[in-house]
Parts: sequence; structure tokens; C-alpha cells
Amino acid sequence: MPDTAHRILNEVFGFKAFRPHQREIVEHVIAGGDAFVLMPTGGGKSLCFQVPALCLPGTALVVSPLISLMKDQVDALRENGVPAGCYNSALTEAEARRVLAQLHAGELKLLYVAPERLLSDGFIERIKELPISLFAIDEAHCVSAWGHDFRPEYAQLGMLREIFPQVPMIALTATADSQTRSDILSQLGLSRAACYVAGFDRPNIRYNVVEKHKPFNQLTAFLAGRKDEAGIVYALSRNRVEEVADKLAANGIKAAAYHAGLPDKERHRVQDAFLKDDIRVVVATVAFGMGIDKSNVRFVVHYDMPKSIESYYQETGRAGRDGLPAEALLLFGYGDIAIARGLIESGNNAEQNRIELHKLNCMAAFAEAQTCRRRVLLGYFGDRLEKDCGNCDICESPPERFDATENARKALSCVYRVGQRFGMMHVIDVLRGSQNHRILELRHEKLSTYGIGKDLSQDAWSGLIRQLVHLGYLEQDLANYSVLRLTELARPLLKGEEKLELARPRDSRVVEKKSTSA
Ligand code: ADP
Ligand code: ZN
Repeated sequence: MPDTAHRILNEVFGFKAFRPHQREIVEHVIAGGDAFVLMPTGGGKSLCFQVPALCLPGTALVVSPLISLMKDQVDALRENGVPAGCYNSALTEAEARRVLAQLHAGELKLLYVAPERLLSDGFIERIKELPISLFAIDEAHCVSAWGHDFRPEYAQLGMLREIFPQVPMIALTATADSQTRSDILSQLGLSRAACYVAGFDRPNIRYNVVEKHKPFNQLTAFLAGRKDEAGIVYALSRNRVEEVADKLAANGIKAAAYHAGLPDKERHRVQDAFLKDDIRVVVATVAFGMGIDKSNVRFVVHYDMPKSIESYYQETGRAGRDGLPAEALLLFGYGDIAIARGLIESGNNAEQNRIELHKLNCMAAFAEAQTCRRRVLLGYFGDRLEKDCGNCDICESPPERFDATENARKALSCVYRVGQRFGMMHVIDVLRGSQNHRILELRHEKLSTYGIGKDLSQDAWSGLIRQLVHLGYLEQDLANYSVLRLTELARPLLKGEEKLELARPRDSRVVEKKSTSA
């Protein structure tokens, strides 16, 4: 059977070899197993079900949410001589009848079906009678409210596993954090699926995270080292986009703004000029980039922190498509996180808020991480890296580590003394012996930990406490004024049974581009 797969890869698709994991996935599905495939866009997910569909007898049903996507894939398959069709609401009645007739006559190797079509008009009854080779659920994150594109019709696809227990099912997506992933598996009844994660690494992109203090100056310092290079600067609001673009232009940089509030004509002009290299820097909201296929984007700067690691990954991924070195710079400000949190918390869907806060926290944790950026990034998608990457700010200048046992113990016991009912600022005030009226009102100047941390600055304490949160010694109750609480991990440290090393805070200069001619 594997040889058939390889022959089909060569003869039908014209490719010499499978990409990493494609072969395993194809063989697993051909052997009748369920699979969950997480690969980035462009990673080659389609072949993972198309090849098995051609190896197995019967018709493969592919559930896909977008009619345009369906049409592209079916056209491409037909181009390669594969009998494929689609069944969706864009068909006329006559066309729909013709597709169903082909399906019954066994003339189709693949049928792409919109989820609402699959679930209506007795379609399920119809296919019970037919030899179905496999089910492929494309864009599988649509089944999960945790994903960014929840579709209620998708939530009903779980019935397939019950009605057709013997037909292999393969679910595919490009974006899924661990929550979304387990949600997909449980909703689709894929408890026994083999999971494959592949292809997320973009080794030519250098990740760099710098604490934001004077962002515009940091940006111009960065651009000064890259005079002939094109790139994208992402900011969160339209106002900020326009402000930054104007200031760059005033500084003699060929820059333009791009956001959804601009007239179509202007957006097209910016896109074209960027593609033709007439504009060097596009300052944009997330609206920019969806359809951009510019291979020589040399850098992506995040002027504001993105809302999730998925967004960060997707946006930085627009750099370096040509495989040449590219840079992703994130300006990371604690103030920004507070603003983003506030915005999320003002939303009135509690479930949605919880999900968005979780995603935001994961993003903040990435920015605060003191370990190889690529490991953290890939780890989020469940992709493993054998060793540190050597191409990120942390790998290039690892943070200095110091024995923080004593200070960590002071901070933890202070959290305990204030009854695990206060946030970081209050804890620091107590540690530093502040005389503010809140402390006096609460009589916290009587606590044994009052003033035991006078020797450290407020910044030093907040850096230390953030690391304690990040490493899991403390948790922050986000639903409740970010109150700090101890976790189980804190106990041995407090009892003096354990030592703790932490990273010394890094400085926030943007390092000028290193000369590559050496
Ligand atoms: P995805 O669905 O993951 O976004 P696609 O299945 O559309 O990705 O594949 C992206 C591109 O990679 C397509 O042009 C496809 O033909 C190509 N591709 C996929 N697998 C291989 C392979 N084994 N060898 C060469 N090209 C491949
Ligand atoms: Zn690294």
C-alpha cells in the first residue's frame, strides 16, 4: 500500500517526496486509523487526505467551511485528472442533482461538502448506503468555541463518528492551541486519533522581544539598520497606525498606513506599491496581510502586542517567505497588556472573555519568557524543538541568572501575609514599607513582612514577581483584580527546601542589525 501512495504522489500530483509527517499520516489513514493534523497554512495538509482518498476504494467526503476554498481544491484536483466534485449551496438544483448522481454511481473519488449540506436533506441517510473511504474535516478548529472561527454546523459533526464507526476520519487545522485541540478531539469523537504536529518552525525568522519604552524611537533605530529592506509594522488601532505612518513619512521613510477604515482604492494603492517596492514600510492593523504574497518581506515589527500567539505567529510568518534571513521584533509593554485586558473584560460574553484572556496571557508569557523564543512558540502549537534555536534574542544573549531564593521567599511570604487577597502593587508596597493610606487603613504596616524589601526598587520587585507568576509559584486571579495567590510549587521554596535561580532583567535597547559580512 505505501508504494501505491508514493506512486500516486508522483504520478497524480507530480511531487517527488512526501514532506515530513505526510507519509506517516497517509499510511495511518490508509490503514484505517483516525488522525488529527496540525500544520501551518501552506504546510501541505490537503495531500494528507487526498492521497489516501485515491488509494482506498470508495468516495472520500471532505467537509470544508468555505465555498471558495472548496472550489479551488476541486479545480486543482480535476486539473490533475482526479474525479472530484463539490456539494454546497452555491450549486443550482440541476448541478446538485448531477453531483449526487455521480456520487451514487461511484464516479467520485472525493466529494467536498459544506457542513450544512452534509447535515441536511437526508444526506447522511444517502451516504449510509455508499462506500465511503474516509471523512476529512478541514479547518477543524471551526468545531471549537476556543478557536477563532467557531461554526455551529461544525459542532454537529461528532455524529459522523457514531454513525460510521469504521470509516477513518482525519481532522486538519492550521491553528489550534492545546485547548482548541482537545476540544476538537472530543467534539469529533476522535479519542483514538493519532496526532501529528508539523512544519511550524520558520528557521529563517529571528525572533526578538524588547521591552517597550519609547516605541517610536525604538522603531526608527530598528529601521535605521535596514535602509533597503521592506517590512510591516503592526499596531492595534487605526489611530496608532496613522500616527506612526505619518511620523515615519515625516522622518523621510517611505511608509504608508493600511487599515480597514481606508477606502478600497487607497488600500489597493498601498498594497500594489508595497509589492512593487515603492513603499518600504507598511504600518497596518491586522487587516493587512491576508492576501499579501510578497516573498521579500524582511521584517515584521509589532508596535503593540498581538492578542494571541496565533496572531503573532501568523503575522510574523509574513516575513521571510523567500527563506532568507528575516526579523520579527516585538515591542512589549506591560501597559499594553493592562489595556488589552481591560478591553477584553469590558466585553459582555463571559465565556468569550475567559478564552480571550487566556490567549492574551499566553502571549504575554511568550514575551516574558526567559527561554528560547522558538521553543516557547513551537511548544504552544505542540511542535517540539530538539534544542535551543540559536536564532532568537534569548539564545544570542542568554539572560544572566542569579540566586533569587531569598527575595522570592520574601515576596511569597508577603503574598501569604496579606491573605492572598491583593494584587502585585499592594504586595510591593508592603514589601517596600510604603506609608500610603491604604496600607495604614488595612493596618498592613503591622505585618511581619512590612518593609523587608526596602533594598529593592519597585521595578525590581515587579520583575521578580512576574517571573514567579510566569514560573508558576504564584497565580494571578484574572477574574478578580489580578489578586496574587500561592500555588503548590511555592511551598518547598517557602519552607527553605528549595533554591531558585531567576533571570536578571534585560535592557531594552533595540540592537542594531549585525553586519553579516564578517
Ligand atoms: P495547507 O492546506 O496545509 O495550507 P496545501 O495542502 O494547500 O497546504 O499545500 C501547500 C502547497 O504545498 C501546495 O502548493 C501543495 O501542492 C504543496 N505541497 C504539498 N505537499 C507537497 C510535497 N510533498 N511536495 C511538494 N509540494 C507539496
Ligand atoms: Zn532560540
